[in-house]
Amino acid sequence: MRYSVFTLMKQALAGHRGWGPAWRDAQPKPAYDVIIIGGGGHGLATAHYLAKTHGIANVAVIEKGWIGSGNAGRNTTIIRSNYLLPGNNPFYELSMKLWEGLEQDLNYNTMVSQRGVLNLYHSDGQRDAYARRGNAMRMHGVDAELLDRAGVRRMLPFLDFDNARFPIQGGLLQRRGGTARHDAVVWGYARAASDRGVDIIQNCEVTGFLRDGDRVTGVETTRGQIKANKVGMAVAGNTSRVAQMAGLRLPIESHVLQAFVSEAIKPFIPGVVTFGAGHFYISQSDKGGLVFGGDIDGYNSYAQRGNLPTVEEVCEGGMALMPAIGRVRMLRSWGGIMDMSMDGSPIIDHSPLAGLYLNAGWCYGGFKATPASGYCFAHLLARDESHPTASAYRLDRFATGHLLDEKGVGAQPNLH
Ligand SMILES: Cc1cc2nc3c(=O)[nH]c(=O)nc-3n(C[C@H](O)[C@H](O)[C@H](O)COP(=O)(O)OP(=O)(O)OC[C@H]3O[C@@H](n4cnc5c(N)ncnc54)[C@H](O)[C@@H]3O)c2cc1C
Repeated sequence: MRYSVFTLMKQALAGHRGWGPAWRDAQPKPAYDVIIIGGGGHGLATAHYLAKTHGIANVAVIEKGWIGSGNAGRNTTIIRSNYLLPGNNPFYELSMKLWEGLEQDLNYNTMVSQRGVLNLYHSDGQRDAYARRGNAMRMHGVDAELLDRAGVRRMLPFLDFDNARFPIQGGLLQRRGGTARHDAVVWGYARAASDRGVDIIQNCEVTGFLRDGDRVTGVETTRGQIKANKVGMAVAGNTSRVAQMAGLRLPIESHVLQAFVSEAIKPFIPGVVTFGAGHFYISQSDKGGLVFGGDIDGYNSYAQRGNLPTVEEVCEGGMALMPAIGRVRMLRSWGGIMDMSMDGSPIIDHSPLAGLYLNAGWCYGGFKATPASGYCFAHLLARDESHPTASAYRLDRFATGHLLDEKGVGAQPNLH
């Protein structure tokens, strides 16, 4: 069923009894051309582009829970392409361009809202670093504006500009950045992929790999063996656990990241704002809730819940930036498992085993990458070669030293 205003009117006249499920909840077949492990945004986007761009629809997406139950449904929904390094910038800009056409592509309202992303700076050194990043963005054809203090004040007059420790000097603004509705992205990709024949198999955990020597030939699951010519992993925070089943040890640590939502209040934050002197970012949802987060909890974990010291630290960041939110009540918080790579950049590459492909290391920035990640992973799976914009995301860069350390902080997951 195609969604349109006419479909809506027709269904309204019929009492809304004619809507069908958005995607098929499929049963596993014995074999597929491609199996993708992980029904998050990246796995489903990969399936969509495999079917749409490469005509490969004999594909299964295998999800241990329900689709979107991982980070895809837990993130703070920020999308942006304000990257410095040449290995990152074109990839994230490809993602931004795909976001800009996503609703038409999927025929689904993913609520992409280009309301702007503003990174605040609080010192001369930070201003110079942001000016450099903004210039690099513009040289790649990406929009960027460096605002001074007066420019930020015009947009966000309620910030604490004269905070004794962290006075605000200005900010780097990407107007095309913003937010998208995270679970609508999952549902939209699932629906589009399913329409093209992809099987979405939920409640099916991958528990091992079928091997023929050094070649992966399928997966063991809680619902039996399934064979495939190619198997792609897109399991985010579970990457090291699933890779271990294939005997691989990857340069990835799993960490918890928490998110928070307040009660709904009148609109007052126009876009996404990040605090440059700590780790705090905030936006306001269309329902009025403040959506915010900060740093990872700082210890390795596979648990989808965090701890109180980080809650306190995040709220302190918020209070240092905008004391006006001090009396707003927090409604909900939750955690997700981050696949933190050791240079803060992802991996989209072959694995050392023939037939097994890796999509991992998204740290806490993988939501914005969802369209480009799916697009480039589908390219790799279909053609056995990297997409040009993802060619720097090689696994062997950790051995050869060609790291993509966007922030220049080394192998320190909490600083990426
Ligand atoms: C609190 C929080 C805030 C964030 N904020 C942002 C943000 O604002 N902007 C941004 O760009 N990014 C953000 N991120 C990061 C982003 O959400 C992730 O990088 C991205 O969602 C990861 O890709 P994914 O959607 O495919 O992962 P997931 O949705 O986690 O998908 C992986 C799937 O694999 C499944 N799986 C795991 N093991 C198996 C198995 N053995 N068998 C079958 N299935 C399995 C899981 O159940 C899961 O559904 C945030 C993350 C969190 C947790």
